[in-house]
Amino acid sequence: MSREKNYYSFILTPGTTSKARRISIHKNIIYIGGALVCVVVLLMGYGLVRLTGHEALNLKYHSVKAENESLKKENDVYQNSYAKLKGQISYIEDISNELARQASLETPSDVDQQVGTGGPETVAALDKAADQLEREVRQIGDRLRSDLLRLASIPAGFPVNGYVTDGFGLRRNPFSGEGREVHEGLDIAVDFGTPVNTTADGLIVWAAPHAGYGNLVVVYHSNGITTRYGHLSRITVEPGQRVKRGDQIGHAGSTGRSTGTHVHYEIRENDQPVDPGRYIQQPRP
Ligand SMILES: [Zn+2]
Repeated sequence: MSREKNYYSFILTPGTTSKARRISIHKNIIYIGGALVCVVVLLMGYGLVRLTGHEALNLKYHSVKAENESLKKENDVYQNSYAKLKGQISYIEDISNELARQASLETPSDVDQQVGTGGPETVAALDKAADQLEREVRQIGDRLRSDLLRLASIPAGFPVNGYVTDGFGLRRNPFSGEGREVHEGLDIAVDFGTPVNTTADGLIVWAAPHAGYGNLVVVYHSNGITTRYGHLSRITVEPGQRVKRGDQIGHAGSTGRSTGTHVHYEIRENDQPVDPGRYIQQPRP
């Protein structure tokens, strides 16, 4: 009877009418089988957990790797841009120094040392160098602009292309041929009606007949300098009008005290006539 207790019996009945069959299995085998099933289930569970963890790690690894590659590419782009910017700043710096020399400005820049050999190694240093360069270029620009303005308002060249028939200074009286008089300008012979142009930027302060000069235009420039254009056949400007060097102010003629078609060109400093020859060679901007 004790032996009987060590077995479990299972009754199997295939179909509904067949004869029942009994299978007896030792209980130890059932226990061992149950234990094996538990171990297999546990192992499978453990494997599944490990596998899932590994897969997650793998995914993360690929994601980090892709991110790293993208960052590397981005870094390369930055490096290229940085090198290009550095080169550009260095180039502008060279031009700036050259312009500063031509504008007779000091070049206080230490940007050159920063950018030139080696150059600023950080973006912050590059940024600082660019700021300083901008200040310098602005300074040079202001200086050049004021130089150009100043030069443009200083008489230069001739008001017409023609022959100088009479110079500045003492001369024999052209009418009587006797005695001497002071000629206060240049006489330039041209064809009647030739356009007459102002020799510098300025403001028209007279545009009407004037004793001896005939039709006269007077232009005020700056620093007390005025130019006069006399004996015009016709005046094409009005007082108060601003003019640029080379602008037409009238046509050549022979009005006033004149012996033939010519332009009487006169330059005054503080209303005193001076030799126009001193201004004719002035540099033009
Ligand atoms: Zn004259």
